[in-house]
Amino acid sequence: MTDLARPGRPATDVAARATAGFRSAYGGEPAGRWAAPGRANLIGEHTDYNDGFVLPFALPLRTVAAAAGRPGQRWTVWSELSGETIDFGADEVAAPGRVTGWGAYVAGVVWALREAGHAVPGARLAIASDVPLGSGLSSSAALEAAVLAALVDLGGLDLPPERQPRLAQRAENAYVGAPTGIMDQSAVIRCRAGHALFLDCRDESVEHVPFDLDAAGLAVLVVDSRAPHRHADGEYSARRASCEAAAGLLGVPALRDVPVDGLPDALARLDDAETRRRVRHVVTEDQRVLDTVALLRAGSVREIGPLLTASHASMRDDFEITVPEVDTAVEAALSAGALGARMTGGGFGGCVLALVDAGRAETVAAAVTAAYAERGFAAPGHVTVLPGPGATRLD
Ligand code: ADP
Ligand code: MG
Repeated sequence: MTDLARPGRPATDVAARATAGFRSAYGGEPAGRWAAPGRANLIGEHTDYNDGFVLPFALPLRTVAAAAGRPGQRWTVWSELSGETIDFGADEVAAPGRVTGWGAYVAGVVWALREAGHAVPGARLAIASDVPLGSGLSSSAALEAAVLAALVDLGGLDLPPERQPRLAQRAENAYVGAPTGIMDQSAVIRCRAGHALFLDCRDESVEHVPFDLDAAGLAVLVVDSRAPHRHADGEYSARRASCEAAAGLLGVPALRDVPVDGLPDALARLDDAETRRRVRHVVTEDQRVLDTVALLRAGSVREIGPLLTASHASMRDDFEITVPEVDTAVEAALSAGALGARMTGGGFGGCVLALVDAGRAETVAAAVTAAYAERGFAAPGHVTVLPGPGATRLD
């Protein structure tokens, strides 16, 4: 199985690569380096737009922006990803849509800051990243958060971390045009090492819940299913519409308002079997997040395994968002001794998380690879992680 963190990249530290990129793109030294992590959602899938609960944690895989201010309103950005440099000025950030491609994530941050009334400094930035792109580990939010942290510091802007997720989300929603919720940006900006972030998507309140895998002798194996995303956008919209329609039929603002002990009554009021399955997933998934949080608060990390596995079964059978590759990875991980395993992210591909005894991570990864080979699937990627810190200035 390939190393998910550095597919084909040089094995030097990501911050060193950002600095080297800055030097070769611009000459001279950056004024500082800012890092933001990718994230994985431990549990709570498709609950965000139902005003419910999610529980992401930050990955040790990070995106780093090496940056320096410059006079005037001009921004130049190099990314290791393509070796390409993009450049834009005040005109391009006067309205969404004027910078496209990956540069839109950077221009979107500048645009959103200016929209919010901040005096954004001109800057030169160089980006390097260990977060795989488009695998559902939120490389987009990592890029936004690293750039945002750099611009806030370089300009001495008054924008504390608790107000940064909304702004980064606005960059992605309104400038890039990707309709994401608040989870990704909240996670990459606000997570803490050794903790998961319990986020209430209704009021955006957060709690840092202890998730000290290291102390428990555990780790999370992240497997990139490498499954081709089949109709993911259309399926996402369909699930969302189904949840909203069900909430309307049940007379509640959102499915979050259906209590788990009221679920049988709620289901009895819905005629359509598919809608009943969708509702059952969301309502039980919210409860599984609450149960996971309760176990973690009590320091019972091992015990969350069955909740992760139950979440997967609910996504597979009731929400119907899994694909054979992710089901295979989950089954193989469990057979090889994982304490729990589930798909993470919106579905139809993306990554699988397995909670494992730290010493067994490679054995479990090998079992997943073998199961993939048996089914004739393209080899998955993997990386073993502990919960890391959120966005931060490195130096
Ligand atoms: P995910 O956030 O799950 O990785 P997205 O589709 O939301 O997937 O975001 C991926 C996009 O973000 C990439 O196609 C690219 O445009 C942009 N991106 C992320 N990281 C970088 C990077 N280091 N350099 C350039 N672009 C990046
Ligand atoms: Mg993204």
